[in-house]
Amino acid sequence: MIVDVLIGVRRRIAVGLGLFTVMTAPAALAADCPGHPDALGTSRTLVVDPREHPRIGTMQYAETLPLADREVVLTFDDGPLPKYSNRILEILASHCVKATFFLVGSQARANPEGVRKVRDAGHTVATHTQNHPTGMHHLPPERVQQEIDEGIASVTAALGDGTAPAPFFRVPGLARSEAIEVHASTLGAQVWSADFPADDWRHVSSSRVYELAMQRLEAKGKGILLLHDIQARTVAALPKILQEMTARGYRIVHVVPATPELPATPTEPQQWRRHPASENVATSHWPKIPNFVFAERAMLPAPWLSDSYWNDEWPGQAPWPRQMPLPLLNAVNALPAPGQSVFEFRDGLRLVARAVPALPSRHVEAKAATKAATKPAAEHATHGRHGAKHAQASASRRTPAGKLQVGRVKPAAASHAAGRAGRHAAQPGRRTLKRLVQAKEPSV
Ligand SMILES: [Zn+2]
Repeated sequence: MIVDVLIGVRRRIAVGLGLFTVMTAPAALAADCPGHPDALGTSRTLVVDPREHPRIGTMQYAETLPLADREVVLTFDDGPLPKYSNRILEILASHCVKATFFLVGSQARANPEGVRKVRDAGHTVATHTQNHPTGMHHLPPERVQQEIDEGIASVTAALGDGTAPAPFFRVPGLARSEAIEVHASTLGAQVWSADFPADDWRHVSSSRVYELAMQRLEAKGKGILLLHDIQARTVAALPKILQEMTARGYRIVHVVPATPELPATPTEPQQWRRHPASENVATSHWPKIPNFVFAERAMLPAPWLSDSYWNDEWPGQAPWPRQMPLPLLNAVNALPAPGQSVFEFRDGLRLVARAVPALPSRHVEAKAATKAATKPAAEHATHGRHGAKHAQASASRRTPAGKLQVGRVKPAAASHAAGRAGRHAAQPGRRTLKRLVQAKEPSV
């Protein structure tokens, strides 16, 4: 059921799902934002069942929230830190906008009142581990469980009313791992990545945060925006972001977890998928760590993608202790091995065209055919009138400098040349060509 929030109605929803409960206040429409007639407001509340969709956010996963065009979900990580978190809450309140806060357990213990402020303002309270460990994807399962469980316990204690945070969890630095996802699943928690960040943990200006937020939102058209409520630049950028969202017709969606009393908003499976299945092949196999890491990895000093140690506003004063020092791995080393199928070439003849640039095509095909077929058949293929003609045709399609390009030799043309060797020569030849190429190819 879509919970379109009624103007003027205030509700307090106690949500229970396993160990979790969440307290939410009503979402608000712009018209229901007293004193702020031009407020962005919150257009609707989306109720999701974490068990049906355990991992979301297209930066890392195939699924994301089922948002309509120009709908945005705001998320804030790493608080509460009163100095800036309170300002963020004030700005959101000025627009009657509801968001999701991924709180750090140690921060919650240090600032329990800050947790209650988030809850009392009607935002969704979620968790982000106890200590925000660097390189969480390298932690053993028992440490993973400890971090997640303690984070939930600390935020629960800070809430102080017997309720628990929503079963929404975000991995510090988005450094996901199987162990993290498995444990979250056992808790019935939904792992939230994001659809786009605004790089507000980096040493960039607030205007840059604004620009990135709007550029990426425009590019995606909708989605989960990742921000941090412990950054001065985010405090400075947020008013302009919300104003611009208002001007451009974006709408804010507030997300809460389903409970027996509050069923999930009805959706179709395809609404959760950002891309058609055919476009998700590589994503589902490899980039579990978001692409922006690679695009800008040259800018990333240690610790890797630690979104909270970038606080240049408080030099030398990390908001929580640096615990669990781990060997720094560069982004490439941190990658899981790509699936074999990502780079699988099913067409061996295409590989030939790319992999053997130093030899004239006629020579290549002659050599391959020699390996592949019986001697009489090979001679037929390379010296016969038709075979030679097609081998020459293949060579003529290559670049003038002799550099070969993937796919420039069509299988039909090449097999035509080899095919003149006889009915039984072509297929063995294709297999042999692939072996030759694999031996020469340094790496793909
Ligand atoms: Zn974080």
